[in-house]
Amino acid sequence: MRLFGTNGIREVVGGTLDARFVTDIVGAVAEVHEGKGTAIVGTDARTSSPALGRIAAGTLAMAGMDVLELGILPTPAIQYNVPRLHASFAVVITASHNPPEFNGIKGIAADGLEFPRELEERVEAAYAARRGRTVDFARVGTITPVPDGASRYVDGILSCVNVDRIRQRKLRVLVDCGNGTSTVSSPLLLQKLGVRYVALNATFDGTFPGHLSEPTEANVAGTVRTVTAVGADFGVVHDGDADRSVFIDEKGRYIPGEKMLALFAREAVRAHPGGLVVTPVTSSDAVAEVIAPFGGSVLFTRVGSPVVARAMQEHKAVMGGEENGGLIFADHQLARDGAVTLAKVSEILATTGQPLSELIDSLPPYHLVKEKVACPVPLRAKLLDAVPGLLDADSGGEVTRIDGVKVRTSKGWVLVRPSGTEPLCRIFAESRDRAVAEELARGTARRVASLVEDLERESLARA
Ligand code: MG
Repeated sequence: MRLFGTNGIREVVGGTLDARFVTDIVGAVAEVHEGKGTAIVGTDARTSSPALGRIAAGTLAMAGMDVLELGILPTPAIQYNVPRLHASFAVVITASHNPPEFNGIKGIAADGLEFPRELEERVEAAYAARRGRTVDFARVGTITPVPDGASRYVDGILSCVNVDRIRQRKLRVLVDCGNGTSTVSSPLLLQKLGVRYVALNATFDGTFPGHLSEPTEANVAGTVRTVTAVGADFGVVHDGDADRSVFIDEKGRYIPGEKMLALFAREAVRAHPGGLVVTPVTSSDAVAEVIAPFGGSVLFTRVGSPVVARAMQEHKAVMGGEENGGLIFADHQLARDGAVTLAKVSEILATTGQPLSELIDSLPPYHLVKEKVACPVPLRAKLLDAVPGLLDADSGGEVTRIDGVKVRTSKGWVLVRPSGTEPLCRIFAESRDRAVAEELARGTARRVASLVEDLERESLARA
């Protein structure tokens, strides 16, 4: 039984995700670790997170483990703390950027990277067998709050950027915490970098009153307008668990995540000529193009930060990340990290003296267009089977199946892939010509939507 998607487990609270489910799955995590050592529990700022976090901590203590409670922290901050507090693993209660009704669980291994798939499979097997464990009264573990998780994390970020240079630049920044976990870290980081900032939505609120937690251009339109209104050098918006950040330049332009990935891939490979950049198949061709002059190469993976981070570790990559604003800087930690990205953007503005708009305009002009189509989870497998025919029929292009189906033609490429976290099918299309990319994405979305309708009708007929 597969429970973990591309980024952990995400379910609706009060539906699949209830107190018993958390007890059973966290009990299974303790079981595969044989109840030994210290475990960390940290959460995002959703309405159910403190409750579910305490259930997780209690379950681990009852399994005989000593528990360190980090409280509400960004996922990358929890990851950063795991090896430094010598924990065997961490359980993170988070649904990242999902809508407010969701919550979720992800596992962090002793090295601070997300659980590899093999470990998730062992947890799923223990869960299916209901193999939890409870110890007797003398061996119940302790539960200890750890209040300095955020400052340890922020200090780690300060050690990998040129703080003096950033201070001298006297930046002004608009930071939008999206009522999520970055509230405890990004304002603190900016303060320590000597950056003057205006903070928006910088209170915890799991109903996300500021805007929905996924930092898409549509969701953060109000923040985009505010950047120019306050005269900021740039704006930054984090998703709920702050492993991602999206940026708005000083002209008030929302910068797509793939542009930031290309910008920092170029910086990393310039500093480490011949370096490798790891990114999923959803990423822009701009990455390969900008690192080629420095002898860099790209390794494409399946979607999901656990896969990207592990591939970076295995192949000693200098940079990695996704097109959604989740960047992984190898000199900090092998985790998607919204706050380190914020520090690195401040640093690049300080060292180049250029405005963000100029840096972005120096990248090749690719246009990556994303669409999504509703697709019930049970139809995923059938949809994937049918997609190659759908795309091959009229393109005649080169097909790759690293994740989903990607078809490349002379005009650009299109990728169709069922989401691993939501009942959706995601469509990505890229071209140097915006109109071509838009037509490729929309045309494919129309065809996928009608395919989903056909599959639904078929499964109704059978039922
Ligand atoms: Mg996230």
